Amino acid sequence: MYRRKLTLIYISQGGFSVKISLFFLALLFSQMTHAQQSLCVFTIHNNAQSANAINPGSPSALKDTKDALELLGLSNLDFPTYAMTSIGNAAAFPNLQGQGPAIAYNPDFMTRLYAIESWAPFSVIAHEIGHHVASERNHPSSHVRELAADRVSGCAMARAGASLDQAFAAVTQGLPVNTGSPTHPGTRQRIQVIREGYQSCRRS
Ligand SMILES: [Zn+2]
Repeated sequence: MYRRKLTLIYISQGGFSVKISLFFLALLFSQMTHAQQSLCVFTIHNNAQSANAINPGSPSALKDTKDALELLGLSNLDFPTYAMTSIGNAAAFPNLQGQGPAIAYNPDFMTRLYAIESWAPFSVIAHEIGHHVASERNHPSSHVRELAADRVSGCAMARAGASLDQAFAAVTQGLPVNTGSPTHPGTRQRIQVIREGYQSCRRS
């Protein structure tokens, strides 16, 4: 049976608590900026804007990608996973630097999520996988694409053994509750599809 280890740390450095405080301030500011720009969490880019900001993903992040793919029955796939400070939260790249599909996350965002709910980073990685594998991945509506990715995330969380609340945590606690933007559906709608994905994949 799959059991999640609660040892996931996306950043491990000295002066951690000071950094965490700075993260909160920086992320509060960045989220305010995002809200003003109607940008949101998990964004698909066609390419990295700042190639020099791409770093290998942490062992925890790489494990999350591998575990989520396995739980989703997609262990034949692999998506390189990178830490990228130039993105706000997390992203699924269709063809990163011409090297094919990839996943990236902002390490500060993941560290903050982990502090809120240790399962939340996994749900984000699963959401990004969802962008790559959902049948709606090329749908013209970004709302449809986001909800499809959320459904995949809910499924992975159920199969990993997370609770429903833990499956919601990234969108209910890690991000400001909102009514949606041009690119992203609102929190209530996202919760609904995460629940659908979770329930459809919950172990009997
Ligand atoms: Zn997304």
